Amino acid sequence: MHESCAVVGIYALNEDVARLTFFALFALQHRGQESSGIATADGKRFQVYTKMGLVTQVFNEDSLKQLTGHIAIGHNRYSTSGSSRISNAQPIVVGEGSNTIAIAHNGNIVNSVHLHEELSDQGYVFRSSTDTEVIANLIISSTEKDWVDKIRYAMHRLQGVYSLTLMTNDRLFGVRDPLGLRPLCLGTINGGWIIASETCALDHIGAGFVREVEPGEIISIGEDGLKSYREKTEKKALCIFEYIYFARLDSAINGRLLYQARQAMGAGLAEEHPVDADLVVGLPESAIAAAGGYAQQSGIPLVPGLVKNRYVGRTFIEPDQRIRDLGVKLKFNPMPQMLAGKRVVLVDDSIVRGTTTPHVIELLRKAGAKEVHMRVVCPPIRFPCFFGVDMATYQELIAARKTVPEVRDFIGADSLGHLSINGLIKAVALPKDIFCLACLTGDYPIPVQIEMDKLALESLPANKRSTLDIEQR
Ligand code: SF4
Repeated sequence: MHESCAVVGIYALNEDVARLTFFALFALQHRGQESSGIATADGKRFQVYTKMGLVTQVFNEDSLKQLTGHIAIGHNRYSTSGSSRISNAQPIVVGEGSNTIAIAHNGNIVNSVHLHEELSDQGYVFRSSTDTEVIANLIISSTEKDWVDKIRYAMHRLQGVYSLTLMTNDRLFGVRDPLGLRPLCLGTINGGWIIASETCALDHIGAGFVREVEPGEIISIGEDGLKSYREKTEKKALCIFEYIYFARLDSAINGRLLYQARQAMGAGLAEEHPVDADLVVGLPESAIAAAGGYAQQSGIPLVPGLVKNRYVGRTFIEPDQRIRDLGVKLKFNPMPQMLAGKRVVLVDDSIVRGTTTPHVIELLRKAGAKEVHMRVVCPPIRFPCFFGVDMATYQELIAARKTVPEVRDFIGADSLGHLSINGLIKAVALPKDIFCLACLTGDYPIPVQIEMDKLALESLPANKRSTLDIEQR
């Protein structure tokens, strides 16, 4: 499971902003591995460089040297294989003359189909299949003179998820949607400013954390310093998966370190679903902290029974099931010396489709595990996500089709226990009403808009439906 994208923005005089952005993107590689890009501006001109691949494959000394100026934005993109192409790489630059912006986006626009139609009718030409280009064209289509007002206009029209960094030739902006679904934080660096998806990006380049960019906030940075503008927000809805899985262990969101939150989730699992066992094994890397919490709370020793080959790419983008199956074996190597004859508690962050878990359990059994008790940090995912996470349909979600005992039998575990929603919120230690929990509860933060968009999509002719891949970017 994955969502989409990391964004970075830096405004700093007398700094190599492209290089700093490169290192910030490198720290945020976990949020997207398909393509990477940086755009810079020097007060007059834009430079942009994007390419498919990991950050270190995309940039070299030559490409970074070409990216001159004191303002930079950067982007790492995640996508499914179907829409993985260079035209969708970001940042993208749109507009003409003084009405030009570069933009990088993390999120998913629910009403992008309507807006794409409307803007196309007005003569705006689209070069990619991303809704990022919809946002960009919406901003430059505004008749307002001031950039903040243009962005405000777009915010009033957009429905969905957007954490943005964008720049004109002389200003940097950071924008977060009114629900605050994806994280965005603000920091300082050598008298300049950085805006990034996660705090770990700030840490790596020696920037100091200032605060979160608030839901509904526009931050504008230029020669005159930093200014903040807030749009009215009625409800917050930060994606709970940032705490379960997406964000890096050493990042903090809303003051809560991810490592501590995940350890507490594991401890909660041990309290809610105790079991007689000999070992706790966490599925590397994402469930290691939770497995540590389970072990600590239960008193059962934590053993690295599965070793991950870090350099094998994601398994689920392979379209062929046979290759996927092989992918699990390529990815994880069990240690029979540690597992033989043992009753194992296997801790994982989530079960989405249930396609990988049976293979992992089988690996443990083949390595000699006598019992495998599955413990899962995330409560059962019963509802699709319409906000950019790649679990878009009920058919894909195993918990939407099967009860917990049925899932246990399907994955071949001796027992299966999920952390409860209350246990999850207790572990995160933040108020429940600031989160989106829609895929767990079915209570969507913007339900009417989703229904409207589905109806509009269904009403479009088939050849137009494919013009936007609204499910994934
Ligand atoms: S529906 Fe689930 S995955 Fe999607 S944004 Fe909400 S909490 Fe995150």
